Amino acid sequence: MRDTPLRLAVFDCDGTLVDSQHSIVASMHAAFAHHGFDLPSAETVRRVVGLPLDVAIRRLAPDVDEAFSLEVSETYKASFFQLRQAGGVVEPLFDGIEAVLDSLDKAGWLMGVATGKSQRGLVATLNQHNLLRRFVTHQTADIAQGKPHPDMMFKAMTETGVLALHTVMIGDTTFDIEMAKNAGVQSIGVAWGYHERTELLDAGATCVVSTADELTEAVLAMAQD
Ligand SMILES: [Mg+2]
Repeated sequence: MRDTPLRLAVFDCDGTLVDSQHSIVASMHAAFAHHGFDLPSAETVRRVVGLPLDVAIRRLAPDVDEAFSLEVSETYKASFFQLRQAGGVVEPLFDGIEAVLDSLDKAGWLMGVATGKSQRGLVATLNQHNLLRRFVTHQTADIAQGKPHPDMMFKAMTETGVLALHTVMIGDTTFDIEMAKNAGVQSIGVAWGYHERTELLDAGATCVVSTADELTEAVLAMAQD
């Protein structure tokens, strides 16, 4: 029997697995209001989802220095936590995501997550959908360098023992595609998230898919080379 190499599919979370924009925009608005800043539009906030929190905040409020952006990050996290405690966090899975995970699992793929969320946030989100244990590696920006730095990709591959050649990153923003490129890993863009298809292709995505079925096909096709 031919040896089958271990293969790893690493998923971004916000905008790829779950549609979390409403909770993120609400928490960002609460944090900005708390510190007396003008509120950014929902569209502007969606553009920075996936970056480390303090970097995202500096993109939204360029006059804020690094130290203050860390303070605003803490306010954001507290707001998000309060929202979750109050049952106000709505993060539905995108259509067909469970079927994608089932298909890849059946085909023997290992799966991981790499996200700008914190460990606490990621665990809460995945637990909400009973998906925590579907992913063998959980990479977050509070224990690794954030996107587009390749640190989370490298850690995911080290933890699973999978080669870059046999790994693919799946995400909805250019930050995901750039992280993959920086790690020497192929990437698939998803068109249902927060950046445009053309941006993902321009950033170097191998392809961009529009549906969950297309995503399954695109990942499985990568195992044929
Ligand atoms: Mg994302």
